[in-house]
Amino acid sequence: MSAERADDLAANLRAVRARISAACVAAGRPEDAVSLTVVTKFFPASDVALLAGLGVAAVGENKHQEGQDKRPAVAALRGRDDLRWHFVGGLQSNKAAAVAGWADVVESVDRVKLVRGLSRGAADRPEPLLVLVQVSLDPPGAADGRAGARPEDVPALAESVALAPGLVLGGVMGVAPLGGDPAEAFARLHEVAETVRRDHPGADRVSAGMSGDLEEAIAAGATHVRVGSAVLGPRPVVQ
Ligand SMILES: *Cc1c(COP(=O)(O)O)cnc(C)c1O
Repeated sequence: MSAERADDLAANLRAVRARISAACVAAGRPEDAVSLTVVTKFFPASDVALLAGLGVAAVGENKHQEGQDKRPAVAALRGRDDLRWHFVGGLQSNKAAAVAGWADVVESVDRVKLVRGLSRGAADRPEPLLVLVQVSLDPPGAADGRAGARPEDVPALAESVALAPGLVLGGVMGVAPLGGDPAEAFARLHEVAETVRRDHPGADRVSAGMSGDLEEAIAAGATHVRVGSAVLGPRPVVQ
């Protein structure tokens, strides 16, 4: 069972890495220009441990409780705590400090209200917490979109993160809207990323692209892709 799962994950991971390299080459970028974060939400600690054994260095979770439980479970299975854990989900302000207790990177900061809690939670960390500002990529005027700060609100939010003790501004993150043109959405993200980088030269991460649209994201300058189902298979349906 586990050996079979390991084979499946290895094959999927090879295929995703090949897609990433091909997209880099097609975009005229170095083959290793883009880092992979495997989004492991809903999948067990045993899968995460297998992925780590296959060379995956960074994993992503979108629920505080799940990430907080899974990290020590994976460390116990591996006998060491050597993965980078990214939080990529919607964040409630009353959970922000707690997320800073286990995540190494928080990619989904979309309002100033989260900054104080993250900063407070980061005070106990040996290293600063890396924070990305999540940018809404909905077309202007869209009604009920996905999470993210409106592009015009991003500079002030980025500044607030950059000034907060214990936090380091790493760049921006975006999720292409369902049903829209991902290339157009990622082009918008690229513009916002440039604006942020003008004020904060070190904030050079652009986290964009998932299983279905990583090629478009890489063409538009993504430095990090977040891939779940293409590596792990379809997520279990929650009843
Ligand atoms: C689940 C998730 C992903 C991965 O999505 P797939 O389509 O399974 O690759 C990436 N980013 C975020 C923010 C997610 O919640």
